[in-house]
Amino acid sequence: MSQSFDVAVIGAGPGGYVAAIRCAQLGLNTICIDEWKNPQGKASLGGTCLNVGCIPSKALLESSENYERAAHKFSAHGIKLQDLSMDVPVMIARKDKIVAAFTGGIAMLFRKNKITAMHGRGTLLKGGNGGEAWQIEVKNGDKTEVVEAKHIIIATGSTPRQLSFVPVDNERILDNVGALALTETPQSLGVIGAGVIGLEMGSVWRRLGSEVTILEALPGFLMAADEQVAKEAQKIFTKELGLMIQTGVKISAIKTSKKNIIVEYADAQGAAQKLEVDKLIIAVGRVPNTAGLGAENIGLQLDDHGRIEVDGHCRTNLLNVYAVGDVVRGPMLAHKASEEGVAVAEIIAGQAGHVNLDTIPWVIYTSPEIAWVGKTEQELKAAGIQYKAGQFPFMANGRARALGEMSGFVKVLADANTDRILGVHMIGPYVSEMIAEAVVAMEFAASSEDIARIVHAHPSLSEVLHEAALGVDKRALHI
Ligand code: FAD
Ligand code: NAD
Repeated sequence: MSQSFDVAVIGAGPGGYVAAIRCAQLGLNTICIDEWKNPQGKASLGGTCLNVGCIPSKALLESSENYERAAHKFSAHGIKLQDLSMDVPVMIARKDKIVAAFTGGIAMLFRKNKITAMHGRGTLLKGGNGGEAWQIEVKNGDKTEVVEAKHIIIATGSTPRQLSFVPVDNERILDNVGALALTETPQSLGVIGAGVIGLEMGSVWRRLGSEVTILEALPGFLMAADEQVAKEAQKIFTKELGLMIQTGVKISAIKTSKKNIIVEYADAQGAAQKLEVDKLIIAVGRVPNTAGLGAENIGLQLDDHGRIEVDGHCRTNLLNVYAVGDVVRGPMLAHKASEEGVAVAEIIAGQAGHVNLDTIPWVIYTSPEIAWVGKTEQELKAAGIQYKAGQFPFMANGRARALGEMSGFVKVLADANTDRILGVHMIGPYVSEMIAEAVVAMEFAASSEDIARIVHAHPSLSEVLHEAALGVDKRALHI
């Protein structure tokens, strides 16, 4: 006899596991089905984010940044180090320990909330458009079980987009999995794609001594970010960090020899070029993961990009079937996936769940960090919206000076007539933390005047946002 539940969640990434916890909190009998295995072959909850994404990448960014500080920044504080060296396997073991603690933590949260965790691949069989239960087949090796549930939440996430002409082996040609597991610093590293993964992973290995070349197809750099932030970032990443970034390239072939990997491409001027590297990271975006899900068995509608089609409340075209996270429209970010998971659980429980996609913060954990929420200047111009801008540099901030992290600025964009904040853009130290204030402000429809009148602690980095808000009305105090 099959087991029966109020809710079956497929996928235990930040979309799925958070949805399962919220469902259980609301009294729904919940199962979460996930197929992820760690390198030791054991079931590991947490999806991409915890196993091979957000958490391990931030662990390596922190380790490599500490090394960079020790090598280049401590001397200004009078701290002298001799024989500095980097033990990459220790750094990787630390990262693995952090991952294990967090994935194990989710298993503990599942037990605490009485959520049934089932390891295996879930395939939707048939069901429930007339209101009866949906059936899911769960396959784990030779074992097959069928689970029934009134409601389904699909949170199957995404997988790395492949380039047709080069297979990833995660030995020499790497996706995010291999890029997070290198046991020594490659002398030379190529990265295809100057997106978020390319810049974060490129930064890690560059700081540890690799010669890093990033090849980007688009004509500009970080085109989703505010143009001024992107320009500042490109300057710092190339001049200070030493990343070699080429935009507007067209890759024609990737070949491997015993000695190295050769990338053949045309540069922005159309001239034929060759890049020879020891390792190559492919980071050209991610695709929604609907393979093997059985969408066709039940008539689940996908959009032109292969994502599960959903409405503003994450409802699919099928009764009682919802989808959240990377597998649906919107940014592929862990916090967006989790908030959608919470919203759907609350909708199933008869409450009013909602996620505002207009105030999702973006953070890129490079050094300096980049963060933004809302519209960029170029988006406002294209939409013909009249706006005012206020900007303030970290250079003029006491805390940033004490930290020795003075690159970057904060920019506040506000409606020219109403003063309502339309976007906030940051590049600088710890802006991953500072962006939260801007998100709160935008959620509460604040004006730049509201932020300008709030008392900010001194000396703190948050004063840069305060001064930028004052700057919208041309009354910044310290510039
Ligand atoms: P996922 O986390 O991908 O989880 C989906 C789960 O479903 C997986 O465990 C998968 O095995 C399972 N699954 C799939 N199909 C089935 C099936 N049929 N049956 C059973 N199980 C199935 N985002 C941020 O916000 N901040 C960051 O700093 C950040 N850093 C990142 C760094 C890297 C290197 C990468 C690759 C991504 C990063 N992301 C970051 C993106 C973030 O990881 C994703 O947006 C997030 O994991 C999406 O969550 P999800 O729950 O939708 O899917
Ligand atoms: P991305 O979309 O950020 O960047 C991919 C880049 O590759 C783009 O700039 C694209 O123009 C380029 N590209 C595509 N095809 C190419 C080709 N043939 N040759 C050269 N360049 C090519 O994707 P990503 O870096 O792979 O990351 C995937 C997603 O994971 C991100 O979009 C983001 O949603 C998430 N992520 C988030 C964080 C974070 O929040 N800090 C960190 C890592 C990943």
